[in-house]
Amino acid sequence: MQIKGVSHLHSKYSHDGEISLAELKEYFKEKGFQFLLLTEHLHDVSEQKIRQIIDDCRLLSDREFIIIPGLELKDNNKHFLIIGIDGSQNNIEELIKKSPPNKIVIWAHPFFTGAPREEEIKEYPIDGLEIWNSVYDGKTFPRWQALKLLEKLRQRKNLYGFCGIDFHRFSHAGGPYLSLELQNFSQDDILKNLKTGNYSMERGNLVVGPDGNLAGGQKTKVKLMSPLICWMLGLVRFVSWLAYVLKISPPKKIKESIRSKL
Ligand SMILES: [Zn+2]
Ligand SMILES: [Zn+2]
Repeated sequence: MQIKGVSHLHSKYSHDGEISLAELKEYFKEKGFQFLLLTEHLHDVSEQKIRQIIDDCRLLSDREFIIIPGLELKDNNKHFLIIGIDGSQNNIEELIKKSPPNKIVIWAHPFFTGAPREEEIKEYPIDGLEIWNSVYDGKTFPRWQALKLLEKLRQRKNLYGFCGIDFHRFSHAGGPYLSLELQNFSQDDILKNLKTGNYSMERGNLVVGPDGNLAGGQKTKVKLMSPLICWMLGLVRFVSWLAYVLKISPPKKIKESIRSKL
């Protein structure tokens, strides 16, 4: 069966998430999705809360919809998504230095603080790079720089590109999703497919392979449009920062409206 799901979501368990897990399920199920990859901020949750998140995901998962629990960890300025946590590890932070067998480790928004160095990437046993984070790269195209970096890294290391919507509120919806062909509808099967690169990243008629490949015409479009969109998003962030420093609060409606389009 062909299913689709969304990666990189924060619910109310994260300090900056505005939507509950049950509401997330309802919303995305109605939009035609079958799974979610949850990535709550580790610094917001205690060991006990992590267990609660895992239990909640299990309770909300059924034969038609699966929520896979995960965390977003920080190591200096780098962010990592650990998807498929089961609560068995004592020190969750160790996860980014070890390669957990049935979990997926993704370097989130790698261009967050400038381009990552190749040597840095080699330090971590990651399964993939988030080449298309809709908050940092825009909803419409993967980041061209990230696609180039992935291409380079794949010459020496078997890793894949991932997309994520970095969802905190409803204006963050509408970005790319993962599409995959499953034998059995289970968490294990979804994770296995993602770990072995059996999926594609899609939005509208744009299809990106797990190796970052795009069809001919789409490649030119992404190459031209992605830098422009990243620049515009940078400008929006700068203006928001300036408004914050000057203690001016632009109407939330305007901010949300820009966000929901980009
Ligand atoms: Zn992050
Ligand atoms: Zn995030």
